[in-house]
Amino acid sequence: MIDKRRPLVAGNWKMHKTVGEAVALADAVVAGVGQVQDVDVLLCPPFTALWAVSRRIEPSRIMLGGQNCAFEREGAYTGEVSPVMLKDVGCNFVILGHSERRRYFAETDQNVNRKARLAIECGLCPIICLGETLDQRNAKETFAVVGSQLEGCLQDLSDDQVRKVTIAYEPVWAIGTGQTATPETAQEVQRFIRRNVADRFGDEVASAMRILYGGSVKPANAASLFEQPDIDGGLIGGASLDASAFTAIVNAARC
Ligand code: PEP
Repeated sequence: MIDKRRPLVAGNWKMHKTVGEAVALADAVVAGVGQVQDVDVLLCPPFTALWAVSRRIEPSRIMLGGQNCAFEREGAYTGEVSPVMLKDVGCNFVILGHSERRRYFAETDQNVNRKARLAIECGLCPIICLGETLDQRNAKETFAVVGSQLEGCLQDLSDDQVRKVTIAYEPVWAIGTGQTATPETAQEVQRFIRRNVADRFGDEVASAMRILYGGSVKPANAASLFEQPDIDGGLIGGASLDASAFTAIVNAARC
């Protein structure tokens, strides 16, 4: 068993930042944590800024990711961006199944599963987002919902494919609301996720898998979340738009 995995802290910039603004933010993040060795740092700008940001982070250890991708390599899919294109522009990761994509763009577990397989084939590591709504939590459906999302998203993936996957547990009620899950609440669900992965893919795959927490992570609460045994870093929305807050969160993940 692996005691603790190397932490990953990913900034999801969502639909923020023009190219010029993205470059300025990337430069500030590089200055803050560009040479950090004991945490993997990932920036996920909007598609339009990927190339410019990839140029700026090149001399650093910071990695690049997309916020979504298409389920086909190429073709007549107006408005979509293929994982081949993400790889070409310098990405190593792609966020899939974010709750905002599920809510506003009808993303389903089946779609996420299809995109995850293709992303892996194209050399990208998917970060698959799972999480319950407030109504589901209040109805005590958290484990059923998260278990079923996990099952659907990882359906028919091989052990080797699952080794490329990172899971992000992001309770929908905590995203962008300022209402963070307590470390104990997040740990309870993340332990459940790891056990579920162990049941399906074996202990070795489960103990190596990084499971991130996302939902109103800030400098003030990051360390107490990251010290939980099944929390291997964070997917950071709002606070990733501020280089000093993001730098503080990365530093909170350092071993
Ligand atoms: C997210 O968008 O994945 C997220 C966790 O956002 P925030 O940190 O703003 O809650």
